[in-house]
Amino acid sequence: MAEVSSAKSSLRLAGKVAIITGGASGIGKETVHLFAEQGARMVVIADIQDELGKQVAEFIGTDRCAYIHCDVVDEVQVKNLIQSTVDTYGQVDIMFSNAGIASPSDQTVLEFDISQADHLFSVNVRGMALCVKHAARAMVEGQVRGSIVCTASVAGSHGSLKMTDYVMSKHAILGLMRSASKQLATHGIRVNCVSPNGLATPLTCKLLDAGPETVNLIFSEYKRLEGVILNTKHVADAVLFLASNDSDFVTGLDLHVDGYYVSGKSELVF
Ligand code: NAD
Repeated sequence: MAEVSSAKSSLRLAGKVAIITGGASGIGKETVHLFAEQGARMVVIADIQDELGKQVAEFIGTDRCAYIHCDVVDEVQVKNLIQSTVDTYGQVDIMFSNAGIASPSDQTVLEFDISQADHLFSVNVRGMALCVKHAARAMVEGQVRGSIVCTASVAGSHGSLKMTDYVMSKHAILGLMRSASKQLATHGIRVNCVSPNGLATPLTCKLLDAGPETVNLIFSEYKRLEGVILNTKHVADAVLFLASNDSDFVTGLDLHVDGYYVSGKSELVF
């Protein structure tokens, strides 16, 4: 099987080609930087925020990072993203399927707005499934023993007093990951999830209409671990572990980065 060896380098992603959806902002952006620092041959950012995405790629250097506009809801765009990556850089070793949204109004099941849920599901579930599907196909065709990482959430394994659609969507990601990891194991492809607790990113700052400090304060009641506040680097480090050969025998795992999650008093959960 074609695989670029990183054995001779202390950099954990030496020679690898990675795609990161939602790489223009938040967790995805932090992971783009970390993957580039760790020697990835090319990191492809796939996002719909063109200006932000291009800025990240230019900051890192366009010889090592590229931006491609890709709405993950659209199968043709996802297919093109993968195909152009293979055509230009030879293969896809890592897919970090991370793009996601939250609904503007959080709801109990009594107020459930199905059109809002449909929109959220189109990005969080349909988009994630399309990225896993087409990345896996490219890995199988290229005989690449690749790694696929999906961003789920603590909301993927806990109920919530509100945000019903978001919680449902993240539960679905665990089903996707567990099935895909079982099916793709025969090809040597690993599939795992990273599940962060709530943390300050543009997504949560906008949702809670507050700055990063206030957002972190709100989420601090959802963890047991004292003395540390979850940030995007903690999540990116976990993604790096799952993406790299350091986790060579790990598949089907939902890796919680949650400081021991506890239900909060607020009616929110991530
Ligand atoms: P973010 O808003 O900073 O980043 C999300 C990125 O996804 C943005 O750049 C956005 O443009 C992109 N995106 C949205 N819709 C897209 C589409 N249709 N096609 C392509 N790109 C699209 O948010 P974040 O907090 O970094 O979220 C990243 C992931 O982490 C999401 O899946 C989110 O559900 C998950 N998550 C976030 C938290 C948290 O508290 N921030 C906790 C657990 C899980």
